[in-house]
This record gives sequence, C-alpha cells and structure tokens, in this order.
Amino acid sequence: MAVDNPSHLRKQVLSWGTSNLRDLPWRRTRDPWTILVSETMLQQTQVSRVVERLPVVLNEFPDPATCAASTVGDVVTVWAGLGYNRRPVMLHRAATQIVSDHAGAVPSGLKDLLALPGVGPYTARAVRAFAFELSAAVVDTNIGRFYARIHGRKLSAREVQQFADEAAPEDQPWLWNQSIMELGALVCTKRSPMCDACPVVDLCAWVGEGDDPAQGSAAVSVPQTRFEGSDRQLRGRLVDVLRASPLALSEIAATMQTDADRAELILAGLQGDGLVVVKDRQARLP
Ligand code: SF4
Repeated sequence: MAVDNPSHLRKQVLSWGTSNLRDLPWRRTRDPWTILVSETMLQQTQVSRVVERLPVVLNEFPDPATCAASTVGDVVTVWAGLGYNRRPVMLHRAATQIVSDHAGAVPSGLKDLLALPGVGPYTARAVRAFAFELSAAVVDTNIGRFYARIHGRKLSAREVQQFADEAAPEDQPWLWNQSIMELGALVCTKRSPMCDACPVVDLCAWVGEGDDPAQGSAAVSVPQTRFEGSDRQLRGRLVDVLRASPLALSEIAATMQTDADRAELILAGLQGDGLVVVKDRQARLP
C-alpha cells in the first residue's frame, strides 16, 4: 500500500517545512564533511548537544585530511561529552578511506558512501541529500515513525524505505528530507503527536487513535537499556579517564568502579572496537 495521494503529501510537507524548519548549523551549509560529521553526531546525541559540540569538533578536524592525519585518540578526545565513543573511531576510519580512495573529498555516490566505515543507509542518504542535494529518501527514526502512522500499521525495514522512496520528489531533495524529518521531530512526536497541527492529517490512517503502529515498527528507535551500571557506563568512565592520560592496568577496575573480571571483559571489548590499546601494562587511547 502506497500513500494514497503522494503529490498532496509532498505539497503539504514541503509547504510546512518551508515555514517551520529550525535554524540549525548543519542546515546552513552544504559542506559534505560538515554534513557527515554532524550526521554522525546526531545519530545518538541530542540536537542541543550537537549544536554545542559541532564547532569544537570541526575546529579540530575541518576536513577529512586533517582528521585522517590525526590519531584515533585525538578524535576520541575531542568527542568528549558526546557518548557512544565508537563513533569517533569510525569517523577516523571513514576520513582515512576518504583520503585514500577519494582524494580527500567526501564522495556523493550511494555505493561509495555506504562503503565508508560507520556510514549506514541513513547517513549515506543524508549526505547525498543534505550536502550534494541529490535525490535520496532518508529514513531516520522520526521518518520511520511517521510512515508507520500514516499507513496505520507496523512496517518492515524494506517497506519503510520503499514508502520513503515513493513519496520523495525528484527535485528539492534537501527541503523534502529536512521537512519530513522535522515534521516527525516536532509534530508527529514519539509520545504526543500533534495531529491537530499536522499538515497531512487527512492522509493519516492512525491520527493518534488506538495502539500506536510505530511501536515495534522498523526504523523506529527502541527505548535505551538502563545506563546506570551498564557496560556502556563503565566503558565511558574508562575512556573519559584515558582522554587525560594512560592508565595502569592495575587501576582499570577501580576506575570503572567494578570487579576485576568484568573490567577485563570490558577492556577487551574496548580493544576489539579499536578504542583502547594496551602497551607496557598501561591502557591508552590509540
Ligand atoms: S496525523 Fe498525527 S499521527 Fe498522523 S502523521 Fe500527523 S501527527 Fe502523525
């Protein structure tokens, strides 16, 4: 089932977006590296935090070549406060590949983008649409939720992308993707959708009545597991300390505030992810 009236959907969403997009730093540029970095940050970090930290990261790494010439540890250090520290490791790997395979310029082809470490279907399409203004149907959690509700049922990942592809206009890829994403973020919100203010309420199969079809639908984010006491928290504690200086292995468990066996497992995980190296009985950033 496609959206009943895709041209009406396009017209309404584009018109709403023209007057409602928030002024955000990554919407003021078409620089592909800035878009790649900001989209990497936005994957798992709040908009307000990304607004604050993006200039700091770009000041250190204004282009892929600068990032690739730095150490992984440099990128992880500048990433402080953003969480999910595998992302700077992957960003460094992507920068290295951009330099080696694309002469330092972020590629625009979907296949080339998807081949970059850490770049998945969302980020690849976001770079195409938001940096190069090339046609692409971006699917993030806001858009996944929006399409599930419009269709009134849970969707598979293939269906969400298919509906997004069908709805996307050939022209205005930047405005279209920003608008539909923003509509999901500001109007078709996770907990309290504002159907009365929705520009496509007449196309919506759900309209906020009964069970939310977005729950359990593909591309829709699931609640985070508890952070307090999690491996994620303990990993973060160690990486935070290593940003300042190397640490003796004998101090790892105390730094993580856990027992030696768990500390050893978490340390091995961090090494496997390329976030920590162990040398001379010390843990350090790579
Ligand atoms: S009518 Fe309500 S549920 Fe449907 S798309 Fe609009 S905000 Fe979302």
